[in-house]
Amino acid sequence: MNEAAGIYAGKDRFEARKLVVEALGREGLLLKAEEHQHAVGHCYRCKSVVEPFLSEQWFVRTKPLADRGVQAVREGRIRFVPEQWTHTYYQWMENVRDWCISRQLWWGHRIPAWTCAACGHITVASEDPSACERCGASTLAQDEDVLDTWFSSALWPFSTLGWPDKTPDLATYYPTSLLVTGFDIIFFWVSRMIMMGLEFMDDVPFREVYIHALIRDERGQKMSKSKGNVVDPLDIIDEFGADALRFTLAALTGQGRDILLGRSRIETYRFFMNKLWNASRFALMNLEGAPEGSLDPEDPLRLPDRWILRRSREVAKETTAHLSGYFYAEAARGLYDFVWSELCDWYLEMAKPALRGEEGEGRRRATQKVLRQVFRTTLLLLHPFIPFVTEELWEAFGFGARPMDQERWPEDPVNGDEESGPEMGLLQEVVRTLRNLRSEARIAPSQTVPSAQVVIPGEGRRQVVEDHKDLACLLAKVDHLVVLPRGDKPARSLVTIAPDFAAYLEVGSLLDVEAELRRLEGERAKLAKDVELCEAKLRDEKFLSRAPEEVVCKERDRMRDGKLRMARIAENLESLR
Ligand SMILES: [Zn+2]
Ligand SMILES: [Zn+2]
Repeated sequence: MNEAAGIYAGKDRFEARKLVVEALGREGLLLKAEEHQHAVGHCYRCKSVVEPFLSEQWFVRTKPLADRGVQAVREGRIRFVPEQWTHTYYQWMENVRDWCISRQLWWGHRIPAWTCAACGHITVASEDPSACERCGASTLAQDEDVLDTWFSSALWPFSTLGWPDKTPDLATYYPTSLLVTGFDIIFFWVSRMIMMGLEFMDDVPFREVYIHALIRDERGQKMSKSKGNVVDPLDIIDEFGADALRFTLAALTGQGRDILLGRSRIETYRFFMNKLWNASRFALMNLEGAPEGSLDPEDPLRLPDRWILRRSREVAKETTAHLSGYFYAEAARGLYDFVWSELCDWYLEMAKPALRGEEGEGRRRATQKVLRQVFRTTLLLLHPFIPFVTEELWEAFGFGARPMDQERWPEDPVNGDEESGPEMGLLQEVVRTLRNLRSEARIAPSQTVPSAQVVIPGEGRRQVVEDHKDLACLLAKVDHLVVLPRGDKPARSLVTIAPDFAAYLEVGSLLDVEAELRRLEGERAKLAKDVELCEAKLRDEKFLSRAPEEVVCKERDRMRDGKLRMARIAENLESLR
């Protein structure tokens, strides 16, 4: 208790309370004592009961500073990404209160205020004063309090660059370009840096503020030690590698959404690291003894070469655009699909005959050059996401002596070979269709189908498939492909009618056709019953009114899928007979 407590001064608060009750009782002033519950403040650290205590503190009048801060954002001199956080910022700034900046702590910047022992005047100065500014006495004592840590942090954008001195660093790097931070300190830190920057530097501290996502567990719960759902990045790095973790975070960073992080997701992207690694090893093996030098117009390129070269330029352009807009997930997924599907599943497969020399020495050399160029671009684009793996591969390819982050970012203009996209699309569609027919006929992946036929009325399209039927055969595992402008269905074959063509897979010699017909009949009969049941349910008023929406939806889907499958079976039955 302090001196205001009179005879109780110096006593512990709990002891003083007892003494007060006793004194009241002694004088006959106490009516009764009873227990009642009420809210009492507790220390957040040691949980002891805290008592209100009036004291003098230092405040900053914040309104004028906040007005300038709001204006800077309204005028577009600072941009929040995602944009929704602008409203959070305005809400804080427009309802701002004076800011208590003094703290009774040991560590921190001491408050620059000195009290005169002679006259009591307070001198505030940026340099330590030697005398009281009012009476000239030299008996000055500096305030014991320190500044709120957010006050010191608010000076960070310029104090780190040498301010208040006018250093070359300050002139070069202020204002900075980008601040990356979490939404929970938009007011504590971001807004204070803006206010201080405008006040002391007369300019904004940064042009853009990227508010990053919060990481939660796979089911969307906040990670906490007590729940036991914390994913420790160091464990993840030990198990999956730093690049797999980094790529996963980028791929899951959708703007304005939390990241739901679990081991299975990281595992998925670890497979991607393996895929890239193996594809690179394949390329390196095939580049042994290859001449240096880039492509020239005389090099004999085929459709897949022209296509993958153009695609790599397109992907570079898209990645650049995504990264410029802070769309990390879109950038990462674009690269993932390009490497996994277009480069590995399609291009490398189609390049194999040429790399084996089956298309002649000129084709082998040209394909090697394409490989080098595409891998060079791909590794550069992936470098910001997976720096360790790409740096390692970069060296293995011998792409340059400099570290990758000093290389030029790929930005070749996307021009030429416009037709390669649609043409390659057609070739891929033919391959996919033949593959689907194979799996419908349940032909083992290792088995080669002797013969297939593709009917394409359009002459240009037909020529594309005709020119590349060696590649279609290779990828669809077909021995002999006939490409015709028109034609009848070959006997005992399965058929698909696509918008641009009809494809026939001749399965008569591979399949016990009679047994297959029986199997299809059986499946159709079973489906017919199933569809009938669904229809009955969907006619039932009681079911419709009582069942939850998603159950009704499921039933409709089942009926539609069943009917589609039945139609397909009818086609197959007809074409096999
Ligand atoms: Zn405490
Ligand atoms: Zn004085």
